[in-house]
Amino acid sequence: MKATVFHEHGGPEVLSYEDIPTPEVNARDVLVEVKAVALNHLDLFVRSGIPGLHLEMPHILGSDIAGIVSRIGDKVPEDIRVGDRVIVDPGLSCGTCEFCKMGEESLCPSYGILGEHHRGGYAENLSVDYANIIKIPNESRLDFAHAAAIPLTLMTAWRMLMSKAKIRKGEDVLIIGIGGGVAVAALQIAKAVGARVLVTSSSDQKLEKARDLGADITLNHDATPDYHKAIRKETGGRGVDVVVDSVGAATWDRSLKSLRKGGRLVTCGATSGPKAETNVNLVFWNQLEILGSTMASRSELREALKLVWDGRVKPIIDRTYPLSEAREAHELLERGGQFGKIVLQP
Ligand SMILES: [Zn+2]
Repeated sequence: MKATVFHEHGGPEVLSYEDIPTPEVNARDVLVEVKAVALNHLDLFVRSGIPGLHLEMPHILGSDIAGIVSRIGDKVPEDIRVGDRVIVDPGLSCGTCEFCKMGEESLCPSYGILGEHHRGGYAENLSVDYANIIKIPNESRLDFAHAAAIPLTLMTAWRMLMSKAKIRKGEDVLIIGIGGGVAVAALQIAKAVGARVLVTSSSDQKLEKARDLGADITLNHDATPDYHKAIRKETGGRGVDVVVDSVGAATWDRSLKSLRKGGRLVTCGATSGPKAETNVNLVFWNQLEILGSTMASRSELREALKLVWDGRVKPIIDRTYPLSEAREAHELLERGGQFGKIVLQP
C-alpha cells in the first residue's frame, strides 16, 4: 500500500510517500481503508522528535482517521461489518489497569495515541483493535474529510470543558488562540452548552470566522497585548469563569489574570512552550483552579459525538491535500495559518 512515512526525525522534508506492506489483521483487529486523515499539532511534535519517545522506523503519523471497514479479524463482534463507514478513536489503552476498569482510559499508565506511539493513518490502510472503531450513523451526511476532522480535537475539548472545567449555561468562557482544532471545537461545545464565549487571536480573519461560529466577543491579542484588562472590562470587572489556554508560556500569566474569583483555567497543551511563571499569590488569593487534561475516555468521545451527529458541532476544515502532499500540509500547519483542520486524503 501507499503511505507517507518518515525514517528519521526532522522537518517536513523527512516525510516520504512510498510503498510499504499492508498491516496484518489479528483476531481483534479491523482493517480500515483510510479515506481521510486529519493533521494535529501532535504530528509536528512526533515528526520532530519528542524526548523519551522511541519509535520503530519507519513511522506513520496520523491520529484522526475516517474510512471504510475492509476486513475483520475472527474475534470482532458482528455489529462491525465490511463496508461500514467508521471513524477511529485514537486512544490506545491496556484495558486492564485500575484506570481502564474505571472507564478513565486516558489516565492509563500505558496510554498511547495512534500516530504517536503506534503507526497511524497516513496510509491507505490502518489495522486497529475493534474497540477503537466507531460507526458513522447511517443518517449522518458527513463526508470522510469532515468525519476525520473530529475525534482528537473534539474529545480533547469535551473533557476539558465538560469533565474538568464543568462549564455551565450562562458562564463566560475565554478561549485563547482561536483557530486550532481544539480551540474551534471548544468554541462550538461552549456555545452548545449556552455559555458566553470570548476568544483571542492575532488574526482578524480568524476572529471573524470565530464570530461566524458564534463567538460573542473577539479580541486581537496583538492589537491589545493587555487583553486581560479588556476581558475585565467586558465582564464588569469580574473576570471570566473559565479560561481555555493551551498556548502555555506566552499567555499563562494573562490567562490567570483574566479569571474571576474562584475561576478555572484548563489546559491541554503548551504550543508556545511549557515553562510558564505562575504568580502563586494570584492562585491562592483568588482561589483559582488549574486543571490539566489530556485526550478523553471512550465514553466521553461517544458522548461528545452526539453533538456532531445532531449537527450542533460542525467539523471545520481549512483545506484538504492528497496524502502524497503531506509535506505541504505540515508546512501550512507549522505556519499556523489555518482555521480548523487540515486533512489528507489517500
Ligand atoms: Zn490501562
